[in-house]
Parts: sequence; structure tokens; C-alpha cells
Amino acid sequence: MNQFLSRRTFILIPTMSFLKIIFKPMQVLASSLASKEEWNLSKDEWKARLSPESYYILREEGTERAFSSQLNNEKRKGIFYCVGCDLPLFSSDKKYDSGTGWPSFWESIQGSVDTKVDFKLIVPRTEYHCSRCGGHQGHVFNDGPLPTGKRYCNNGLALKFVPD
Ligand SMILES: [Zn+2]
Repeated sequence: MNQFLSRRTFILIPTMSFLKIIFKPMQVLASSLASKEEWNLSKDEWKARLSPESYYILREEGTERAFSSQLNNEKRKGIFYCVGCDLPLFSSDKKYDSGTGWPSFWESIQGSVDTKVDFKLIVPRTEYHCSRCGGHQGHVFNDGPLPTGKRYCNNGLALKFVPD
């Protein structure tokens, strides 16, 4: 090893351990585990079940482009189901226009979603996912309307709407 390389290594090693600390929370970004054994599908099984866009959201915690989902403007009465496993997640009577460009709800159907903290944008956010299949749905914030004050900011690609 020449002098140049060893000097680089000297700089690289502390830098790498620093980056490891920063990026460690990224590891929790793998999608959440299913609560029911029958929904613990392999990557390939999920890929066969979902469109590539929905796979990216549900299984890789992706986010669709704002204002890209038709469900953002959906105003009919009905139920929003998890596109991964058909669990009912939201009812249209809890939907509101948050102006953010994503379908937004002030309450989920009881027991339908679970939360965890993620650090994808470094600042901690509360991620939520389908309580049955573990598929990522969106993030929940505390700037929603009454009575809950919550804003469930959901990816339209993670939902399937069935009108009444
Ligand atoms: Zn699900």
C-alpha cells in the first residue's frame, strides 16, 4: 500500500463508521412484517401480486408523486382497501382534502393500521402500514382536522377504492 492509499484509508475509516451511524435507521425501512403468517410472502410472490408501482410503495416504502393519484379527488362514498391484501383501511366519511396531493384521512378503520417511526428524511416521521400484510401505506401527522387532529397521508397506489 503506498502512502497515498494509506492516507486515504485513514480518512475513510472514520468517515465510514460515521455514515454507518447515519444510515443505520435505513435498515428499518424494509417493509414491516405481516401479522398473519399467510401474508408473509416472498419478494417474488409480492411482485406477482402487485403492479411494479404498488410494489415500490408497499414493499419498499416508496412515495408516489403528489397529485398523481386519482384517489386524491375521489369523493364518492365507499371503502379504501389495502391493495396488498384487501383489508379495509379507510372509510370515505373520514377522507378530507388536505391540499397535499395525497389521499388524506383523519382516522383509519380501527385496528387496520400499525405505525413505526422512520428516519428516511433524517427527521423522524411516523410511518403506518397495513396491520395484516405489513404493506407500507403512508405517514401520519398531527396537523389534521378535528376530532382526531390526525392526517393519514396515504399513497393512492397502496389503496383500492370500492364505492358503496
Ligand atoms: Zn394489507
